[in-house]
Amino acid sequence: MENKIRAEFSKHFPGTMYASAGRINLIGEHTDYNGGFVFPGAIDKCIMAEVKPNGLGKVRLFSIDIDEYCEFGLNEEDAPEQQWARYIFGVCREFIKRGGKVEGFDAAFAGNVPLGAGLSSSAALESCFAFAINDMFNDNSFPKMELAKIGQSTEHNYCGVKCGIMDQFASVFGKKDQLIRLDCRSLEYEYFPMKLDGYSLVLVDSRVKHELVDSPYNKRRESCERVAKKLGLETLRDATFEDLDRIQNEISAEDYKRAHFVIGEKQRVLDVCDALTKGDLETVGQRMYQTHEGLSKEYEVSCEELDFLNDIAKECGVTGSRIMGGGFGGCTINLVKNDLHDKFIETAKVKFNEKYGHEPKVYDVILSEGAHRVDE
Ligand code: ADP
Ligand code: MG
Repeated sequence: MENKIRAEFSKHFPGTMYASAGRINLIGEHTDYNGGFVFPGAIDKCIMAEVKPNGLGKVRLFSIDIDEYCEFGLNEEDAPEQQWARYIFGVCREFIKRGGKVEGFDAAFAGNVPLGAGLSSSAALESCFAFAINDMFNDNSFPKMELAKIGQSTEHNYCGVKCGIMDQFASVFGKKDQLIRLDCRSLEYEYFPMKLDGYSLVLVDSRVKHELVDSPYNKRRESCERVAKKLGLETLRDATFEDLDRIQNEISAEDYKRAHFVIGEKQRVLDVCDALTKGDLETVGQRMYQTHEGLSKEYEVSCEELDFLNDIAKECGVTGSRIMGGGFGGCTINLVKNDLHDKFIETAKVKFNEKYGHEPKVYDVILSEGAHRVDE
């Protein structure tokens, strides 16, 4: 990919190369809006861009993958039509709104983060350009957390996606062989090494996405908020199983299940961090299965296809497997012993295809560097 971009770019204009990564989240699902923990890491699939100031007061972009050109000015009314360009326009605007400097530049970029597969290609795109603009025009004066927030605000204000901070955070902060536990309430974070000796991380993308009528996402949020309120808490972050049992008769059975999952999930993230510190990947895997179970039975955001993939993983003896992301489709993340790797993938492809008429897509991922300048 790097060579292809270099060739394209040097034809038009030579510059500096930047990259930022897609991400996984090992555990900690539906915890962000409950003030809990997530546990993401950046992966070896990235967006890479070659960028150069052009002194023209406007941005000229070439997307190699989409094979499209776009240019725009830097004022609010200059927003481009093309969706892919809006991510970059948004990043420029969010810098300017925060008092940052953005001058005209040219860029060509490409990526190998699969689009819309739950690996956050959009965060990789935003973080790549946020890092570049900080480096080129702002002497790197914006702290990394601010770069993540610039990406998040871009999604909110220019792309119509009300996302949390995790994707951009992981893309900006990711490090090789490390996961990062992020406290979504305080934004404090801590790195944990994940040595995959003898194991691999495999994503199995079901390539289904169930569009559901009344937004189940909002309904889950409302359940959590109701229970927190009942307990006199701001979020479920500080709730315990004892608290929940105390008010069991005052809340609906459904709200009870939802909150039970969230409280359990908080502990599972902490357990996984603890297990990683001890190099105990078996416990990590067990917690992943428990999370899947909770997402499926208590939080009820799974679907037939994802439960099927989880069952296959279990039958194959995979160490850990669970839905990754919001649910109702998308992928599972699997922690697989290397000697089971090929058999598991083959079995998942064949069985899934037999039942649902198409093969899932499989991605092996390695924990890698987040946003950075490629040429030092
Ligand atoms: P994801 O879950 O992968 O973040 P999104 O729908 O949020 O999915 O973001 C995908 C969008 O990001 C694409 O439609 C495109 O506009 C932009 N994008 C991602 N990767 C690329 C790329 N390599 N080239 C151009 N645009 C990209
Ligand atoms: Mg996205």
